[in-house]
Amino acid sequence: MTALPPGSTIGILGGGQLGRMLAMAAAQLGYRVHIYAPEETSIAAEVAAEWTRGDYDDVAALRAFAAKVDVVTYEFENIHHAPLVALSEVATVRPSVQALEIAQDREAEKTFIDDLGGRTAPWASVGDRAELDAALAKIGTPAILKTRRLGYDGKGQARIMTRADADAAWATIAGQPAILEGFVSFEREFSVLLARSADGVMQFWDCPDNVHDHGILALSTVPAGPIVAKQAEEAKALARKVADSLDYVGVLTLEFFAGKDGPVFNEMAPRVHNSGHWTIEGAITSQFENHIRAICGLPLGDTRLAAGKVEMRNLIGDGAENVENILADPSNHLHLYGKEEGRPGRKMGHVTRLFL
Ligand code: AMP
Repeated sequence: MTALPPGSTIGILGGGQLGRMLAMAAAQLGYRVHIYAPEETSIAAEVAAEWTRGDYDDVAALRAFAAKVDVVTYEFENIHHAPLVALSEVATVRPSVQALEIAQDREAEKTFIDDLGGRTAPWASVGDRAELDAALAKIGTPAILKTRRLGYDGKGQARIMTRADADAAWATIAGQPAILEGFVSFEREFSVLLARSADGVMQFWDCPDNVHDHGILALSTVPAGPIVAKQAEEAKALARKVADSLDYVGVLTLEFFAGKDGPVFNEMAPRVHNSGHWTIEGAITSQFENHIRAICGLPLGDTRLAAGKVEMRNLIGDGAENVENILADPSNHLHLYGKEEGRPGRKMGHVTRLFL
């Protein structure tokens, strides 16, 4: 595909804040955005040229959407195989359907990383209750039972501290196909964010040092502290292998634990990521702009830091209510996603602070 000319239309599957920030970056580069999402309202559609409200399993609606756009990308990962294939018959999908299919299944993802020589937590496949016992015998406790699909922000997970917790864990995930993962003892969590262009050029951002609260990202800091800094190169080398082996186009995120023997791969997202929101003001080119550049066949922008230090804090639940206090500090950049209700655990916005 040659570079898409300005005025072309980018289709985005998913209508949340990632789609909203992608649409804003696309507009800056002169593109139109068409959102496809099933919900009654969409905070991405609010800043886009067009919106199709459709179900992710509605093949006819997806095909009609794909026929109206010049390239399709996604901010939402849990879309079934058949509709994705139908969509890709009509439009170019970037990143590829293969990348999405690996990332949406924890078992496929772990197998893929193991095959590339990456370090993963010990894990075993769990298809039924008896396999959970077998997996516990193999891996031991503490361990975490995670559904293969549809898990995010710590959802679809149950911790098993002793064998006596197995029944409760199985009930928590409602008997869905799962994997059992050994508990990794780690001091820090971090992510690798990269962009790969259509002609295979790759750029990495600095690795953010991430702090989670109840399974949800709370704070990302760049540059990372010494523990993460020591492991960043090894983690980036794995991410490079992942991106090259998938002939990946767009922004790719890999999350890691900084373990005692080196970086332990946790999961990957074939998309822009919450731990990369700091790049909007904190890097010379943001993850959103580089994703749009990559999928449109344009060269990538510089990913270097634009400040000495950058911090990104998520505004979760009612944390977004104190707008005036946040803006009283002129170093703060406030991003609100336009969501109406501040339910507990809901990401309402983020604040990025630059230290020059
Ligand atoms: P996930 O949805 O897999 O990213 O998990 C959410 C959070 O749970 C992670 O960011 C970690 O803080 C924690 N976690 C997940 N898997 C493990 C593990 N194998 N060992 C220790 N902590 C974990």
